[in-house]
Amino acid sequence: MEFKLTDSQREYVDAVRALAQKDFKPRALSYMDGTFPWENMKQLAEIGVLGMTVSEEFGGLGLPIFETALILEEIAKVCYPTAMAVLGEAGVQTRIIETYAPRSIRERILPRVVSGDAILAICMTEPHAGTDVANYRTNTRLGMTHARVNGVKTLISRAKEAAMFVVFTRVDDQPGRDGIGCVLIEQGTPGLEVTASYHTMGGEFLHEVRFDNVEVPLENVVLKEGGFRKLMNAFNTQRCLNPSISLGLAEGAFEEAVNYTRQRGIFGKTLTDFQGLRWKLADMYREIEAARSILYRACASANPFPDPLLAAVAKITCNEMALRVTTDAIQVHGGYGFTDEYPVSRFYRGARYGTLGGGATETLKDLIAKRILDGLDPTEGVLSLDTF
Ligand SMILES: Cc1cc2nc3c(=O)[nH]c(=O)nc-3n(C[C@H](O)[C@H](O)[C@H](O)COP(=O)(O)OP(=O)(O)OC[C@H]3O[C@@H](n4cnc5c(N)ncnc54)[C@H](O)[C@@H]3O)c2cc1C
Repeated sequence: MEFKLTDSQREYVDAVRALAQKDFKPRALSYMDGTFPWENMKQLAEIGVLGMTVSEEFGGLGLPIFETALILEEIAKVCYPTAMAVLGEAGVQTRIIETYAPRSIRERILPRVVSGDAILAICMTEPHAGTDVANYRTNTRLGMTHARVNGVKTLISRAKEAAMFVVFTRVDDQPGRDGIGCVLIEQGTPGLEVTASYHTMGGEFLHEVRFDNVEVPLENVVLKEGGFRKLMNAFNTQRCLNPSISLGLAEGAFEEAVNYTRQRGIFGKTLTDFQGLRWKLADMYREIEAARSILYRACASANPFPDPLLAAVAKITCNEMALRVTTDAIQVHGGYGFTDEYPVSRFYRGARYGTLGGGATETLKDLIAKRILDGLDPTEGVLSLDTF
C-alpha cells in the first residue's frame, strides 16, 4: 500500500492548481449569473484537461479516474461552475461514448471534446422520474435504418452549450430497468428543443429538453434494452467525480477560513487566539482528510469503473463532509461569510449539489445496506465485504 501521489499525478495537480489559482479564481464570481465559463474551458483544453479521459487514439490523455478526480478537486477549490462544466467533459458521458459508441461517432465527437469545441450533456432525469429510473418514459423506437426518440428530460446541465446529448431511453417500449438503453443525439437535430431553463443556487443553469419525433441513424443507439446494467457500471465513474468536486469545495472553503482567522482581529486578538475557532479548524481539516482517504481509495479501485460499494461510501462521505465544512467556513467569517465579498458562501452553494446529483444520498444508502445485508459474513466481519 502506497499512500502517496505519483510524480506524474503531482505534475497534473500542480499544473491545474497554478492555472486555477491564477486565472479562474478572479473570474469565479462572474459565473454565478449562469454565464458558461468558456474562457476557463478554453484554457483547460489548451493544457489537455478536457480530453483527460479520452483515449490517446482520439487525441486525449487517456487518464484513469483517479487523475481526473484530482484535477476536478483542484478546479472546484476555486470555481464550482467550471468544475461542473469539466465534469461534463470528463465524466460518465465521455466514458459511455468511448466504451459503447461505434468508431464513426467516436472519431467525429471525441477529438472535438479534447479541443473544447464540443460540450456534452447527459440526459437521465425526467419530470416524474429522477431516482425512480424504472419509470423513465422517454422511448426510442427502432426502424429499419433510423430510430425515433420521443420524451422529456429535465434538470439537464449544459443543454444550451452541448454539441451532443447522451440520452438514457427506453427502447421499443420495453418496460422496467431492463428496457433502458442509450441513444446519442446531436444538437440541432430537428425535434430536439430546450423548452425551459432554471437558474440554480450553484450559479449554473439546468434545462428541460424535449424530443419530439427526433430521428437519428441506428448507429446512434449505442445501447439497446438490457443496457442499463452497463450504464450503471459506467455511472460509478460519476460517483467518484461528483465527490471530488465536494472535496475541492471543502478544501477551498477551509483555506479561506484559515486565512480569515489569521487576519481578522477582534477583542484585541486574532481569531486564531480563540480555542473554539482553532478546534473548528482542526475538525474541518480532520473531516477533509478522512473523506479524501476514502475517495482516493474508491478512485484507485477503478478497472475501468470504480467498485460500486466504495464509490457509494466515498460519495456520501465527501458530499456530507463538504456541507459541514463549508457551513463552518461561513461561520468563521461571521456576517461577512454571508456576503458575496468573500467566496465562502459560493463554496457552500456548490456543495449543496453534491448530495443530489450523481446518485442521491438516500438511494446510495440503500445500495450500501443491500451490500451489507447480502454480503457481510459475521464470522469474518467487515473484511468479508471484500473492500481490502
Ligand atoms: C446541479 C444539478 C445538476 C444536474 N444535472 C443533471 C444532468 O446533467 N442530467 C440529468 O439527467 N440530471 C441532472 N440533475 C438531476 C439529478 O440527477 C436529480 O435531481 C436526481 O437524480 C434526483 O432526482 P429528483 O430530483 O427527481 O428527485 P426524486 O427522485 O423525486 O427524489 C426526491 C427525494 O427522495 C429521495 N429518495 C428517492 N428514493 C428514495 C428511497 N428509496 N428512499 C428514501 N428516499 C428516497 C431522494 O434521494 C430525494 O431526496 C442535476 C441536478 C442538479 C441539482
